[in-house]
Amino acid sequence: MYPLAHIGTALIIGSLFYVPLSAFVIGVLLPDILDKSLSFLGVESCGRSYGHSILFALAAGGIAFAVTRKKGIALAIALGCLLHLAGDSAGTVPYFYPMVDYGFGTCDKYAPNPGYFEVAMEVVGITMIILWWKWRSKLIYLRDRVIKARGLKRVFG
Ligand SMILES: [Zn+2]
Repeated sequence: MYPLAHIGTALIIGSLFYVPLSAFVIGVLLPDILDKSLSFLGVESCGRSYGHSILFALAAGGIAFAVTRKKGIALAIALGCLLHLAGDSAGTVPYFYPMVDYGFGTCDKYAPNPGYFEVAMEVVGITMIILWWKWRSKLIYLRDRVIKARGLKRVFG
């Protein structure tokens, strides 16, 4: 997925739960920010490496907790990273990098070159963002009704 699709997915899913949305959106963007930067700088050969691993999600959550001392923020960052991995799962995702060799020698250096599919996914992403903006209060109302009806407890903040 590309950024707008990741953001749209995070906004809609995050609104259905008591996830701090800004931290969740930052978390969903972190894997690409790290890995595309490493690839662009020539440190890694592929645009999916350290940031696209489960280990990074845990580390990002740990660092967020160390900085903020808020477990809701830390959990939102870690879950955002994991949501990113799920969103990218149509392609190769190095879930256990660097413990497992994913053969990045064949991966070209990251260069933004979106095709029709990527452009279509970004259109879907911006549509999700617009729909979220339009219906976010209804999503939150629905979430609160389900949680109240089922007697569920809030996990975040
Ligand atoms: Zn990615």
